[in-house]
Amino acid sequence: MRKTLYVVFACCLSLLIIYTLIINVNEKSTSRRTYVPTAQFLLRVQEENRQEQLHGGIGEETEKTAYLSFDDGPSEVTPAVLDTLKEKEVKATFFLLGNEITPEREDIVKREMAEGHTIGVHTQTHKRNIYGSYDSFFEDFDAVQERIRQVTGEEAKVHRYPWGSTTGLLRPLFHRVTAELQSRGVQSYDWNASGEDSLSDGIGGAQIKANVKKHYGLYNEPIILLHDSNVNKNTALILGEIIDMLREDGYQFDTLENRDPYLTPEEWRK
Ligand SMILES: [Zn+2]
Repeated sequence: MRKTLYVVFACCLSLLIIYTLIINVNEKSTSRRTYVPTAQFLLRVQEENRQEQLHGGIGEETEKTAYLSFDDGPSEVTPAVLDTLKEKEVKATFFLLGNEITPEREDIVKREMAEGHTIGVHTQTHKRNIYGSYDSFFEDFDAVQERIRQVTGEEAKVHRYPWGSTTGLLRPLFHRVTAELQSRGVQSYDWNASGEDSLSDGIGGAQIKANVKKHYGLYNEPIILLHDSNVNKNTALILGEIIDMLREDGYQFDTLENRDPYLTPEEWRK
């Protein structure tokens, strides 16, 4: 009888031990399960990564620099642009049109240099046939460099392709021309935000500002395309507000010669 009781007791004890072990394992697996990332958690990580890419780290002070660039000058509008840049203490980049550097406008180009802005080559004629061949491209390019050298005593180190590097006109020449520019120490820059102030005549200042606002926030280092030709009076008028808007968003300003190279992605040219 006593032996039977022992056996029953031993069985109960064994069952208790086994039961305890099972509970334990279950608890462990349950507690492990709480660390399996939920969809919500994954979304949070994705968002943090995105913020980190955008702003250089959570909680860190972010360096954000906007690069204002003006194409197709100099013109009668350029002094007003320079006045605003001076008043707001902002440096910018001017991609010049060689044919527009008339003798009367040489002082404007000199002022751009003297006030700390960067001068770059855009094109001599702004005609499609500059892309007719490698030679015609550099004939046009060299004419602007020569004119800039005559006026400022220096050659430009930055350049912008008319209609951007994605223009189909440039496609057959792109690699050869870009390699040659680089071998001459000249860096080409497209843009990733635009006032779209050359697309239609008489575009209003509010619209130019709204156009700039559409894309610059996607980048820590936006390159903003504006124009300072004679038809761009509204650009000059709204420039102060555009600068204020960028400042309020935490951007400082610099010229493109201090920025990493930027051309639109290769696949855009296919
Ligand atoms: Zn242009």
